[in-house]
Amino acid sequence: MIDMKKLILFGPPGAGKGTFSGQIKRVLPNIAHISTGDIFRENLKNQTPLGLKAKGYMDKGELVPDDVVIDMVRDRLNQDDVKQHGFLLDGFPRTLAQSEALSTISEVDILLLLEIGRDIITKRILGRFGCPECGEIYNKYTLQPKVQIGENKWKCDKCGAEIEFIQRSDDTEETLKNRLDTYEKNAKPVIEYYEKKGLVKKVDAENTLALTEDDIKKIIGI
Ligand code: AMP
Repeated sequence: MIDMKKLILFGPPGAGKGTFSGQIKRVLPNIAHISTGDIFRENLKNQTPLGLKAKGYMDKGELVPDDVVIDMVRDRLNQDDVKQHGFLLDGFPRTLAQSEALSTISEVDILLLLEIGRDIITKRILGRFGCPECGEIYNKYTLQPKVQIGENKWKCDKCGAEIEFIQRSDDTEETLKNRLDTYEKNAKPVIEYYEKKGLVKKVDAENTLALTEDDIKKIIGI
């Protein structure tokens, strides 16, 4: 059984990178899932020097400087679990400089490019809301609770609490537009870089939940 792959998960915010990572983990349970965003958030929570360095950029939705991210990823890729089972990079590389730096640290098998229309991302991100009682997640446009009791009010399917659709403060149309514009500007050279190496594999991200384990195996070539 193949138990070693070096994968990059690439796509815009709202493409479902978290969900897709979970599906890959089901077929490659030992792969090291490395999300640079998660590492920064963990460092921020623990107030480490790295976290404090990243904070200002993260607050504005800007990219942390390349050298900071590259050093962090280099350290992580040198750990034993990665050497034994490979990696699933999530959120890195995000710029051409990061892609070039990665090539000096490790080879890569595939860049999985999650493709999804901007209209669907907008609905996914701007429509999401959760139950304040039990944390169940819903979407005003794509995944409403079953029982509606008012214009923007439902009963939670899981715990029965009354819930109202309230937009998350960081999920406004304006910030989302900035995040998508930043993604598009930086993504092009990264995708071209890996296309030249013949490593890009496109994945239709509108329906990844419907993919079976065999579909996933075929996509990642195991
Ligand atoms: P994410 O959860 O992947 O959207 O990352 C959250 C934030 O962490 C981003 O908005 C950036 O400020 C920072 N970040 C994560 N990965 C990178 C990266 N590869 N390069 C620069 N900044 C990053």
